[in-house]
Amino acid sequence: MIMAKRLQVCRNCRRFTTDKSCPVCKSTNLSTSWKGLVVIMDANSEVAKTLNITEAGRYALYVG
Ligand SMILES: [Zn+2]
Repeated sequence: MIMAKRLQVCRNCRRFTTDKSCPVCKSTNLSTSWKGLVVIMDANSEVAKTLNITEAGRYALYVG
């Protein structure tokens, strides 16, 4: 897998995207300033609940 594009994070739901808009909420409010990558495998896990995440995927812990 080639990481040619810089990862961006949706400010709305904190999901990672390489597109111009968020694949989940279609928001174009993206940020390249983020910290901490968390992979949610199970949306029912305690981690997901703590982060208010309802769908499995890759998320940033902090979005600037
Ligand atoms: Zn989003």
